[in-house]
Amino acid sequence: MPADCLFCRIISGQIPSTKVYEDEFCYAFKDIAPKAPVHDVFVPKEHYSSSLEVTEAREKNIGHLIRAASDVARQKGIDSSGYRLVLNTNADAGQTVFHLHLHLLGGQALGGMA
Ligand code: 5GP
Ligand code: ZN
Repeated sequence: MPADCLFCRIISGQIPSTKVYEDEFCYAFKDIAPKAPVHDVFVPKEHYSSSLEVTEAREKNIGHLIRAASDVARQKGIDSSGYRLVLNTNADAGQTVFHLHLHLLGGQALGGMA
């Protein structure tokens, strides 16, 4: 675990967060600066920086993050209204924390490009 990684420190509890979900492979918490009524962040417990480091061995882990985020969306009642899963990679996408993470956004109509 890189000691200087913000999300590794959140996973280990060194930095407090509001947990929304946890299992063996993944931890999820409320985003500190929410951009929608529901804005949670899903991170693999294994540290790697971005989608560029998704190897064959890690593929299952990404599916797992999607399933966990969709379960939380269902629990929060935004499944039928709709939600967006966002995975930013590098500067043009606005990635600021270099521990791969999936944003769950919903609870209102979301504008945007895609
Ligand atoms: P990125 O821009 O890298 O895709 O997303 C990083 C996200 O982490 C941002 O939405 C930002 O608000 C969130 N974030 C940054 N620092 C903290 C923190 O200390 N606690 C929580 N809960 N979220 C954070
Ligand atoms: Zn990390």
